[in-house]
Amino acid sequence: MFALSTHSFADDKGLIGISMPTKSSARWIADGDNMVKVFTEKGYQTDLQYADDDIPNQLAQIENMVTKGVKVLVIAAIDGTTLSDILQKAHDAGVKVIAYDRLIRDSANVDYYATFDNFQVGVLQATTLTDALGVKDGKGPFNIELFGGSPDDNNAFFFYNGAMSVLQPYIDGGKLVVQSGQMGMDKVGTLRWDGAVAQARMDNLLSAYYTDKRVDAVLSPYDGLSIGILSSLKGVGYGSGDMKMPFVSGQDAEVPSVKSIIAGEQYSTIFKDTRELAKVTANMVDAMASGKEPEVNDTKTYDNGVKVVPAYLLKPVAVDAKNWEEVLIGSGYYTKDQITQ
Ligand code: BGC
Repeated sequence: MFALSTHSFADDKGLIGISMPTKSSARWIADGDNMVKVFTEKGYQTDLQYADDDIPNQLAQIENMVTKGVKVLVIAAIDGTTLSDILQKAHDAGVKVIAYDRLIRDSANVDYYATFDNFQVGVLQATTLTDALGVKDGKGPFNIELFGGSPDDNNAFFFYNGAMSVLQPYIDGGKLVVQSGQMGMDKVGTLRWDGAVAQARMDNLLSAYYTDKRVDAVLSPYDGLSIGILSSLKGVGYGSGDMKMPFVSGQDAEVPSVKSIIAGEQYSTIFKDTRELAKVTANMVDAMASGKEPEVNDTKTYDNGVKVVPAYLLKPVAVDAKNWEEVLIGSGYYTKDQITQ
């Protein structure tokens, strides 16, 4: 009987509001599920909401969480610049705020940031492409096209800048050629990370610049975009006959993309272990709850326009046809059945 009461005390550490952007991508579903699991194990209650990539929806959900009396808000913002007013209200009500995966901008009321090394994600994405092409060994020139993530997501700039830190020297040296000339986040960004938008842009690039040329590689920052880009390429015959599929990168190791990698279509993706991110986040909450400083490993990089937000950065891992099994199955992130069935 008394064992039960220990349990109920443990269940009383307070309510955590978890605001996720969308269910349209499997990674955010995994993030939400992992956080509910870890917070519940630690004795917190959770209110997990998905905002359908709709900004007013996310604001209303967060407002509702504050009204319900959450202790901490964990937020992966749709648009990192839209939360200032609601975070002021949260702050006034004594609520702590953790920016989850995506930096929340333009607000002093962001206590901590739990994320992956986003610049390194871009470095890895581009390196998988340059390694596959062999430009490091002097091969080339090759044609490459560039895609960026959503311009309202701070991460998109880190991914792009990380990737360009690898690609730009080869572009300057003429080993990589962007036939469209479209470079820079203002030209290559993909609003709301929408795969259909990326597919349409790839269609346009192919018909405008590649009727008499072949594209050899495509920098794609997210698996959902990669799938769209690959459909576009397949639509004009890449991947059959003598039209070799270009090397296409990705991110998140989502199941359709891992299957595509195994099938020899998508070339690479980046694995970000959302179980680890959930743990880091829950540890931050625990530390704050007991009046301690949460552990961080970066206090310089993430200036949100008002303050530099102390951050914990996890390591992303590049995945391709050679190591998917070791990385994704070996770590227990997926079962083999999930990938092979
Ligand atoms: C995340 C990526 C994800 C992208 C699209 C970014 O903020 O860091 O992991 O691919 O959003 O959902």
